[in-house]
Amino acid sequence: MNLEESVESLKGIGPKTAEILKKAGIKTVRDFFYNLPKDYENFSAPTTIAAMEPGKVVIKGRVTAAVSHRARFRKLTVTEGVIRDDTGFVKAVWFNQAYRVNQFKPDKEYYFTGSFELRNGRYCLMSPSAVEVDEIERSSGLAPIYVAHGKVKSTDFKRLINNSRDRFAEIPDFLPTVPAGKRRESLFKVHFPESTKSVTEAREYLAYEELFELILAAKLNRSENDKLESLQLPYHNDKINQFVKELPFTLTAAQKKSAWEIFQDMEKSTPMNRLLQGDVGSGKTMVAAMAAYEAVLGGAQVALLAPTAILATQHFEKLSKQLGIYGVKVALLTGATKQKDKLKTAIKAGEINFVIGTHALLTDDTEFKNLGLVIIDEQHRFGVEQRHKLLLKSPSELAPHLLAMTATPIPRSLQLTVFGDLDVSILNELPKGRQPITTKILAETSTRESLYPKIRETITAGQQVYWICKAIDDNPSSEATSVKSRTEKLKKVFPEYKIEFLHGRMKPAEKDVVMERFANGKIQILVSTTVVEVGVDVPNSTLMVIENAENYGLAQLHQLRGRVGRGSVASFCYLLTSGDNQPSRRLRELEKSSDGFYLAEVDLKLRGPGEIYGALQHGALDLRIATFGDTKLIKKARDDIEVFLKNPENMLKYKELMSDIKRYQQLTTLN
Ligand code: ADP
Ligand code: MG
Repeated sequence: MNLEESVESLKGIGPKTAEILKKAGIKTVRDFFYNLPKDYENFSAPTTIAAMEPGKVVIKGRVTAAVSHRARFRKLTVTEGVIRDDTGFVKAVWFNQAYRVNQFKPDKEYYFTGSFELRNGRYCLMSPSAVEVDEIERSSGLAPIYVAHGKVKSTDFKRLINNSRDRFAEIPDFLPTVPAGKRRESLFKVHFPESTKSVTEAREYLAYEELFELILAAKLNRSENDKLESLQLPYHNDKINQFVKELPFTLTAAQKKSAWEIFQDMEKSTPMNRLLQGDVGSGKTMVAAMAAYEAVLGGAQVALLAPTAILATQHFEKLSKQLGIYGVKVALLTGATKQKDKLKTAIKAGEINFVIGTHALLTDDTEFKNLGLVIIDEQHRFGVEQRHKLLLKSPSELAPHLLAMTATPIPRSLQLTVFGDLDVSILNELPKGRQPITTKILAETSTRESLYPKIRETITAGQQVYWICKAIDDNPSSEATSVKSRTEKLKKVFPEYKIEFLHGRMKPAEKDVVMERFANGKIQILVSTTVVEVGVDVPNSTLMVIENAENYGLAQLHQLRGRVGRGSVASFCYLLTSGDNQPSRRLRELEKSSDGFYLAEVDLKLRGPGEIYGALQHGALDLRIATFGDTKLIKKARDDIEVFLKNPENMLKYKELMSDIKRYQQLTTLN
């Protein structure tokens, strides 16, 4: 069987169904077989209608008299039917499932499962799912449930997969490390369950298959990188020591260790491919500065890519001062840069040593003479293509070294799989003298005003305040206060303070002005959207208020909060929640902990990797079956891959596997 053929080649799938399936990402025969049930319904041991008790029930019976009507005041179709068995009858009710009217044949028996509960004074079976008796009796009482896509419902998937029942035998083997036939057998058992145990075993195989692919892809990325050649940049002991000595602070042990790992990488003739992970405020920029200086000393140009103009500008302000005194020529390239052409000519001529910029760096006409090091700040903000573009800007055959930095730590469990073959440096300590940030959840309406004395106290002590709002303008459909109207309101409360706003739709030059004034202490309260989320560093700000905190993800809140607690004064972060709901687990975890590594593990558990790495991997790294917590299976896959790689012929022989791997490689690469 050719698994790459269109789903249309399967029995019962016409052009219309195929169209719907394709939209849902089920394009090929292979996609179709791998469209696994999301769950199973257990129809074993049904009760009789007479014996039903309120709650979830399973019964077996025939349906008579199913009819639909529109509910009067709502856009709702209500379908009602009567289910009978030998002991009695019960009314069944479905909402917006008009197809139920024609689903049941009067002479056929079905299994039903649903909730037996009171509706308008009468006990009914609510929204029961139904399966033909034959099907259940074939399958030991378990019925698969598929995710519905448009008109193609779970029952349609069951029918279609049943049509192709005989074709499972043709599914070829996929991995050399498991017994022959294991794949087709596992897929069959998942779609045609025999018992809970057999489903569990089958899914375990499929999870293994998935992990095998991911880990193999990561390993191959590694070996491909190791085949490239790069400029060797020797370590300049004296110059680096002098630079470090002149700093206004001493480096943390973690900063020293990371810098040392980077220097060693850059001395090699294979390109560095290193991820620098450090919690917010751990001082990643300083490590990047040292790497950049080192590269420039070795005669190479350096590019630093930042996700926002605010951040690029801030890096430029700091680094051009810090490195400028040693003769490094630093330039800023953002969308707002004037005389871009002139700057680009200078970059191309090699007159600029170190370019800091935003996406503007990626345009085709930005060319380098001798690009030897690429640094990507907040790397999870960029897609694969963008990172790739920058790396290709080296005109020679030599590949630049790559240092990617992130404050969104990769949980250990992911480290073992996807990122297992990446070189990682970790800043696992904050600079000395940092005070912990006190975080508090407050129900907004009652307490916003109670914060005012605290704000006054903070500003009187010479410190500054961030106030974060979700929206830029007021919006009638949302109760959330916008940046603009919050600014007006705060100005009335604190007429004596300078209060300004910042948001992503302002012109770059306007943003720069506000940011600079805030950094210089000319603004006391900065009301802002999440444009300040990443990287912004104003150590004198010690209080942050986040309105509608429940609207943000955990990683994002942690990043936002990281804008305070950057100096030596105790900082505070207030999470205002609207409505009467209990604070979510997210917010409670954030209140409890300011350890980004711990929070990343929590986030992985709460949301799954697909969402965390959403930006990083464009949502594609969403495991269907395996979990990153499955260390035993991960270990087995890793061991088997070692064996697999020992035989180079495997790469040629397992074509289907290798074409998957190509795709996964794209997703899990840094460069
Ligand atoms: P992040 O890791 O979040 O990017 P930054 O690089 O912005 O953190 O650093 C946060 C702040 O800490 C900056 O003001 C920086 O100058 C300062 N800093 C960096 N390293 C040290 C150090 N070893 N001791 C004291 N302050 C430091
Ligand atoms: Mg940073």
